[in-house]
Amino acid sequence: MRYLSTRGLPDDPRPTFSDILLEGLAPDGGLYLPESYPRLDAATLASWRTLLETGGYAALAHAVLSLFVDDIGSDDLRGICERAYNDTVFSSPEIVPVSPLSGGLWLAHLSGGPTAAFKDLAMQLLGQLFEYELERRDQELNILGATSGDTGSAAEYAMRGLPRVRVFMLTPAGRMTPFQQAQMFSLDEESIVNVAVDGVFDDCQDLVKAVAGDLDFKRRYSLGAVNSINWARLVAQVVYYVAAWLRVTSADDERVSFCVPTGNFGNIMAGHIARMMGVPIDTLVLATNENNVLDEFFRTGVYRVRGASETHATSSPSMDISKASNVERFVFDLLGRDAARVRELFGVRLPRDGFFDLSGTPEFASLRERFGFVSGSSTHADRLATIAAVWARDGVLIDPHTADGVGVAASFAEPGVPMIVTETALPVKFAETIAEAIGREPERPPRFAGIEDLPRVVVPLPNDVRALKTLIAERVPA
Ligand SMILES: *Cc1c(COP(=O)(O)O)cnc(C)c1O
Repeated sequence: MRYLSTRGLPDDPRPTFSDILLEGLAPDGGLYLPESYPRLDAATLASWRTLLETGGYAALAHAVLSLFVDDIGSDDLRGICERAYNDTVFSSPEIVPVSPLSGGLWLAHLSGGPTAAFKDLAMQLLGQLFEYELERRDQELNILGATSGDTGSAAEYAMRGLPRVRVFMLTPAGRMTPFQQAQMFSLDEESIVNVAVDGVFDDCQDLVKAVAGDLDFKRRYSLGAVNSINWARLVAQVVYYVAAWLRVTSADDERVSFCVPTGNFGNIMAGHIARMMGVPIDTLVLATNENNVLDEFFRTGVYRVRGASETHATSSPSMDISKASNVERFVFDLLGRDAARVRELFGVRLPRDGFFDLSGTPEFASLRERFGFVSGSSTHADRLATIAAVWARDGVLIDPHTADGVGVAASFAEPGVPMIVTETALPVKFAETIAEAIGREPERPPRFAGIEDLPRVVVPLPNDVRALKTLIAERVPA
């Protein structure tokens, strides 16, 4: 299996999985995708049903990953999957259990990991893959990132204790929820450096860009990233679409639909890949909050990114995005993998005009029929009403992001086709909105009892590039 770029890297040599594992963007500014998606035949799907039952989630992950990775030995890859997906890391031995709601809806529980959000599923695997590859290359890696909450904590819990990886994570001082702060800052390990920047999230991101943009410094301190465009994160996510389909169906040609709360288009892109591979997925329903860049694109064909000032701060904050980095991968497939057109849209028109328009093209007209996509969006009031309704009807408490999914899913559910909503976080992370919806705070899973009382380890930092470089130089052994 070789990889190409959405903007058309020269054909030779095409990189392998391990070549691109530690990379972000391709050198031409595009995103990596496999040369073609593996096609699953009926016999393979049937064998995976047995495999999930007998070997569990890690065995299924190994089978799915094997189709995309041909430069890690099979036994080693199995070990990586077993270390990432087991019941010492996830709260359920099923890793991703699925449970019914009323009205033909199902919830795929993706939040059983250490930080109670679906990002753990990709990050845990990424951590094990990184450690394996760094060991093989005899290298170390210092991850430098900025987070407003979920991504940074998932990265830290996945990378902690890995001898070759250190994490510097920048957060906007005083701006995360108390629970998110407690989760990150209670990690007391030499290899995890939490930094509270005197500024907002954009300032943190600008600092990361400035330091990573100094190529000498970047090389000297082996700096890397764990961005949402990383290919391995996407492959990891394909696994739970397969697992959820297997858990809800009993026949190998039985179709399901998925509804996915969406920000950077990472989660639902994995659903698209699963569908392209031949997992019997009928519809992929994309759900956004008030920041509806993607809903607008899938309804109208116009992709118009927003400025920071046009991005609303909502009660499903992990979906407050104005520019969906992974959407370039989908547009590449939508346009029949025409790299020249993708280069023109994302490399020229978007930076120049702030939008592009595919309405009126035959590709956009066939979006629903060929790719199964539909979309919708929700407001704060919708979110509260959905949380309250699911609680009253089913006795299940869902978080605000999942509520965006359940709310939109209801309008697309069809009789006879199970609609699986991907649960993206646990309600305990967003207690304030839950209290607003149902009049009381969510119960706290025992594994998070009292985390606000733990001692906190965090380095305060002025919003200054030199100060950040000094901190990195002090913490990375020469
Ligand atoms: C990251 C995140 C999302 C958005 O996922 P994308 O892959 O960026 O589309 C939604 N909900 C929660 C809770 C998240 O952490």
